[in-house]
Amino acid sequence: MEKQSYSTPVGGFYGEFGGAFVPEAVRGCLGELQDSYLGIIGSDGFRQEFRALLRDYVGRPTPLYFARRMSEKYGCRLYLKREDLNHTGAHKINNAIGQALIARRMGKRHVIAETGAGQHGVAVATACALLGMDCKIFMGKADVARQHANVERMRMLGAEVVAVAEGNMTLSHACTAAIRYWCGNPADTFYAVGSAVGPHPYPDLVARLQSVISEELKAQLAEKTGRDRPDCLIASVGGGSNAAGTVFHYADDERVRIVLAEAAGEGLDSGRTAATLHRGRPGVLHGSRILVMQTPDGLTDEAYTVSAGLDYPGVGPMHCNMAAAGRCEIVAVDDGEAIRAGYELTRLEGIIPAIESAHAVAALGKVKFNGGDDVVVLTVSGRGDKDVETYLRF
Ligand SMILES: *Cc1c(COP(=O)(O)O)cnc(C)c1O
Repeated sequence: MEKQSYSTPVGGFYGEFGGAFVPEAVRGCLGELQDSYLGIIGSDGFRQEFRALLRDYVGRPTPLYFARRMSEKYGCRLYLKREDLNHTGAHKINNAIGQALIARRMGKRHVIAETGAGQHGVAVATACALLGMDCKIFMGKADVARQHANVERMRMLGAEVVAVAEGNMTLSHACTAAIRYWCGNPADTFYAVGSAVGPHPYPDLVARLQSVISEELKAQLAEKTGRDRPDCLIASVGGGSNAAGTVFHYADDERVRIVLAEAAGEGLDSGRTAATLHRGRPGVLHGSRILVMQTPDGLTDEAYTVSAGLDYPGVGPMHCNMAAAGRCEIVAVDDGEAIRAGYELTRLEGIIPAIESAHAVAALGKVKFNGGDDVVVLTVSGRGDKDVETYLRF
């Protein structure tokens, strides 16, 4: 039997992870999406429209920048993939625009989404403003209070922000509320999921929309290094979308080392962590069989990290499978290490990274390279303007 690709699911599963465990009420519209998404994103019309918006509106291709001073410090040839330079400040806009275009092609006028820190909510609200679609964003009440600037941005873009006052009033319950709304309004609503998580086909759909990152890397590396593959890829993992986009076209090439940085919060053994690949156990969360942070009696546990964008108690099925198969190395980075790495990139290269991305930067100090010649690509998933106060507080 041919070995399964790490990038794409078979029957909705990546190894033993994935699937679509959803309530009866949404099985119909999920099935509609499962049946149509590959045809839509493979069609010439979609590809042309998506490509044109990524180029002229988002600002792609994003630069691949040789970081000279960081390279000297870490003994490698370090290239930064600058997703922080995208419109709205992170990679999330690639996915949001792609899903809004799919919604329109499926004849759905209403787009809903969940958001934690507000980054995905802003990206979806932006895509909906651009395409003239109706937008409703579910956000935990605690996050609405904490992420005031993003709430105002979403409202300014014309989205309705629904404050979810359930559970711990953060991302996980915002997802549940969005799914519940979808169950009640399946016919005209499209659910735009914000990361490579959720029931099939979302992990695959999001990974394919973000795969533009590794597609660009191939051409950019060939031009800059004479070879279209790096020796090592490094990305941060929350749900897994920027990492999925970074590794997509390299996942089955075992010559390319893959390092994923997850948020250890106050430490792997502190009880206050978001290091799901280290500490999670198999379970079903938001429609997918993945690794989930759980209490001893199997309830979904709260995740903790200083980084709002990595604060999710699960991780996408593609990454769970790569981790289980030993295809990637998982590095746990705690709050302090991430903050220090963010300052370091700022001082050595003049780039203030999002704290999420700073976790990937911190991984540079935790892996060994082969004597200075290794070509390493690190995805700077977002910019740190939103995090300046958090950096200063530490
Ligand atoms: C949301 C976010 C992440 C984490 O999400 P993934 O789906 O794992 O990529 C990482 N970096 C930034 C800047 C983000 O906004």
